[in-house]
Amino acid sequence: MLGLQGDFREHVEALHKLGVETLIVKLPEHLDLVDALIVPGGESTTMGYIMKNMGMEEVFVERIRDGLPVFATCAGVVLLAKRITNYEQEKLGVLDVTVERNAYGRQVESFETYVEIPAIGKDPYRAIFIRAPRIVEVGKGVEVIAYHDGDPVLVKERKILACTFHPELTDDLRIHRYFLEMVKA
Ligand code: GLN
Repeated sequence: MLGLQGDFREHVEALHKLGVETLIVKLPEHLDLVDALIVPGGESTTMGYIMKNMGMEEVFVERIRDGLPVFATCAGVVLLAKRITNYEQEKLGVLDVTVERNAYGRQVESFETYVEIPAIGKDPYRAIFIRAPRIVEVGKGVEVIAYHDGDPVLVKERKILACTFHPELTDDLRIHRYFLEMVKA
């Protein structure tokens, strides 16, 4: 669990409920100790800044390109994206999507909605969007797993799963479980 900034504790709780052992990744060398990585929501600018300052970027990009499974949520998606339409900021550029940051408006415009995600079951998923990015374009190798209002909100590219809302803020563990299946595969 990347623990530089953001709501990583909630993800850790979800993982513990699923019986997964966790390690908070705060240094580049911690990456050698994990089988998979979650990049939480928070502030992508802050996470990118810390990573750059600690010299973590290269190691992360290398491990992810080598196939380390990664689950990114909200700000995590911005951090991983190859292209950001409206901000110049540090990014890892490993996920072939274009995002627009804060596309749904400010904090007060945060919202909850139900999203159909057939890949995890037929009950709609309660999705919490908090100053979320909008995925405005996906590359050829990117599979869209769920849409909201025509926008991709859950996508997958190789071993990267990216979600623009916050599955760690609900008790519904289906998306975390889906990621664990990806890791096992
Ligand atoms: N607006 C934040 C960003 O772009 C993301 C917000 C969040 O993770 N809930 O970094």
